[in-house]
Parts: sequence; structure tokens; C-alpha cells
Amino acid sequence: MLQGRPDRVVKRLPEPKVLYLPLRSQRFSFSDVCVEDNQRVKDGDVLAKDPDNYAVPLLAPRGGTVKLKMAESHIVLTDISPPAEKVHVPEKDLPHIVQELGTAGIKRYKLLSLGGWQFFYDAYTGALPDPLGTPQAIIVSTVSLEPFVARGDAQLKNRLSQFTRGLEHLQSLLEYQPIYLVMPDIKSEFATLVRERIRGYAWAKLVEIPMKYPYDNFNILARGLGLRKDAGPIWSVRTEGILAIDRALTVSKPCLVRIVSIGGPGVNSAVHLKAMAGYLIQTILDEYVFEPDVRVLNGGILTGEPISPETLGLDAESRGLTIVPELKDREFLGFIRPGWNRRSYSGCFLSSLRKDFRERLTTAVRGELRPCISCNFCDEVCPAGIMPHLIHKYLYKDLLEEANEACVDLCVRCGLCSYICPSKIELRKELAEAQNRIEQELRAELVEEKG
Ligand code: SF4
Ligand code: SF4
Repeated sequence: MLQGRPDRVVKRLPEPKVLYLPLRSQRFSFSDVCVEDNQRVKDGDVLAKDPDNYAVPLLAPRGGTVKLKMAESHIVLTDISPPAEKVHVPEKDLPHIVQELGTAGIKRYKLLSLGGWQFFYDAYTGALPDPLGTPQAIIVSTVSLEPFVARGDAQLKNRLSQFTRGLEHLQSLLEYQPIYLVMPDIKSEFATLVRERIRGYAWAKLVEIPMKYPYDNFNILARGLGLRKDAGPIWSVRTEGILAIDRALTVSKPCLVRIVSIGGPGVNSAVHLKAMAGYLIQTILDEYVFEPDVRVLNGGILTGEPISPETLGLDAESRGLTIVPELKDREFLGFIRPGWNRRSYSGCFLSSLRKDFRERLTTAVRGELRPCISCNFCDEVCPAGIMPHLIHKYLYKDLLEEANEACVDLCVRCGLCSYICPSKIELRKELAEAQNRIEQELRAELVEEKG
């Protein structure tokens, strides 16, 4: 029971006075800037595009005056005007698309240009799929299990009809491919309601999963469903993506606002917020964080990345902020503390005598930073069935080939190994870096072969 889990309440943030839109997010780099300094833009206008990701756009969440030099690696919008809610369809491109791709092609194009496509992931790689490609299947998940990111049930509150309509739109993008709808296996009011709504959808296959992290991971779901990586791309999308599809394809409006969580042990009330890209992070922290010294993660506690002081606004992909109290100094005699208030995977702390309690996480490491002690806990928890500690030892000696043979590519980056490691080794990060290096080397080899 972790302290600081956001409840289902969704609050609206006050309208911003200025927006700081980061040009980078987890997957995207909006290096192709489409606006000029001091240019006036309307909400929904394209500010920049990512040329390496099918020109996915960074849209202006509000009208305003563009400032390109005000903050490094950001597009800043000042003199913000209230939302005009204009219908935004790039008509000039439509005849050409109709000819080439038909109606499903137009819908995909609309999704891309209205900011809906960025909610899609490739189930195996996590990358943005090709909007004009043909998937073998789509996985839609209403479940979000990582503490403390935005929950599916909070996002669906009062928006179930939009969700089911979004599913119908999604189906219309396909020919015959199945849609797997992932639901919690519990008998909650919410789950029953969704089940009732989609009963008539013969094309949607219900998949029920236990409410245990990381069963909601798209990579694990794809493997569990027997969808092989070499049989074609598998698209995956969460609740917020289906709601964005509905907005883009039902009313042709851009997706400018998303629901993000603010949670973790460092906040005074953990909630969900209706926020837009570029919203000043400090304004959110001033309102919700009571601890003086905190680490702010972009994402959940297991896979979120610390936000650098240079990043001023929420990025275009943010799903939530997790606030963890920062304890930089080593606690005095921390290694002999009995651990009445903290859990460990090994059950070696006194807290194992207590019943469930609300644990307050901090960044403290009480003397645990040390070499691997070969406890094998990481192997036990790994949902991918690989041996993180062995790969860690290979990587420590820079034996990339051996790491590859030990199936580092199967790691789904869930972070459980890093979380339970009693030596606090950053296994997830190490394995992810190794995956990237191997991929780069493979790509270089391919180029060499072709050249
Ligand atoms: S190696 Fe670690 S991060 Fe990767 S899947 Fe296993 S537990 Fe998750
Ligand atoms: S959990 Fe940490 S200390 Fe234990 S075997 Fe894995 S890497 Fe080593």
C-alpha cells in the first residue's frame, strides 16, 4: 500500500498565462519547427513536427504569441487566448489522400494531424507505429497499473460513450484485424459497465488481466496473446488514446488536453488533472507538493524519469508526475535500523510482522549501494523470464554479445528488478541502454551490408 495513490477525482487546472512546450518527450524530438518568433498562432495550429516519427505534430494547446528564444529547447506561448475550439481539418491534403488511401486512410491522416496518433505504441518496441501501416492486431488497454500514473477508470469517468464510440472508429481503420480489449479481472462497477457496453462488439475480444503490475505492459500482453513479433506490427493504445480518437474522428477537433496524475508520497492530495502540454510544472508543484525537497518523476514510480531543472513545462506525452521526497544524506546508522516502516522483497525488515500499512517511499538508500550480492531476487520477479543479474555482470565487463545471448532484448523495461534489488543497482536502465546499443549496432551492420 503505497502512500500517494491518485484517486478518481479529476480536477481542472486554471487557464495558463504562458505555456512552455518542451521540444522533446520520451519518444519524440520536434526538431522541425514550423513557426516563427513572435508569430501569432491559434489553438490546434502545428508548432513543430518530428521528422523521424512520421511528422507527428506538436500542436499549440492554446492560441498565443510564439517565443522561440525565451527558453532553450522549448517553444513558449505568451499572451494566451481562451480556447476557440475550432474544427481543424487540413482540407487541402484530403483529395490526394482519398485517392491514395480511401476513407480509412483519411481517418488515419486526421488522427496524425489532430494529435491523436501519438497515443499509439508498437507493443513490442514502444515506438510510434507507421500510421499507414497494417497491424496484425490492436491491443486496447483500460488498465494502468504502475503506481502512480493516470488510471484508466479515472479517465473513463463520465466518458464511457466517447470511449465506446472511439473503439468503433478504431475498428473502422482496420480490415479484419482483431482488437483485444484489456480489462481488469475484478467485479468493480466500472468493469461491469464497460463489459455491458461492448457486449455487442463481435470484433472486440475481451482479455481480463489481474490487477497486478506489470500485467498491463503491452509487450507482455502481446506475448501472452500469442502475437508474434515477426508476424507484423501490433498497435497498442490506452484509454486516453481511444478518447483522443473519438475527439479527432467524431468532431474533427485536435486533442489538446489530457488527463495526467499528480501522485506519490510528496503530494498533499493525489489527484488527476486536466492538463495540456506546456503547462508550467512549477505551478502544479506549488499547488500540490508540500515537501521542500523532492524528486519529480515524469511518469510512474517504476519507469518514470527524473525531470531535469531545464524542463519547464509538461511534455506532449506526459501521463503523470510522481513526487518522491528527496533524502540525500545517508541516514545515521541507517543500516541497523529495524525497518518498521518500510517493506522489502526479502521480508528482512521488522515491518514483515505488521499487517498492510501505507508505506511512504523516499529516495533514501540506507547503505544499500553495493555490488550485486547474487540474491537472485531480480530473476524471481522478472516477468520476461530473463536473468537481470547475469546480464548486469556481462554489462559490467562490457560483454555486449554475451548480454545479447542472455536475451536482454526480452526485457520489457518494467523496472521491477531495480525496485526490489537490495543493492540498488539500476538494472532497468542498464538493460535498456544495452538494448539501444545492440539495436544501433544491428542498424549499422544493415547499412554496411546494403552499402
Ligand atoms: S529485466 Fe528488469 S526491467 Fe527488464 S523485464 Fe525483467 S524485471 Fe522488468
Ligand atoms: S536483485 Fe540485485 S543484488 Fe540481487 S541478484 Fe539481482 S542484481 Fe544482484
